[in-house]
Amino acid sequence: MKCPRCDGQGVIRPARINANGLAIWLCDECDAVWSSPSEISSKGNFVDFSHFVARFGLKGLWSEITILDSHAPAADPARESEGRE
Ligand SMILES: [Zn+2]
Repeated sequence: MKCPRCDGQGVIRPARINANGLAIWLCDECDAVWSSPSEISSKGNFVDFSHFVARFGLKGLWSEITILDSHAPAADPARESEGRE
């Protein structure tokens, strides 16, 4: 999924905040965060990663999250209801 904030330079990755298990969608280029994939198509509603996690007492480091997909999202039958593209 291309990032609308940085005009497709980055790819938006599903991720999970290690400290609390919260799911986020994070651009790997500009660190824009969305809390729901359905919001990503809108340009202006992102939050900066460091700002987003500051409320949880985190610094905004990538080590504080787990990226849930690797480089190429493989077809996963267990998640067939997600990721229609
Ligand atoms: Zn971006």
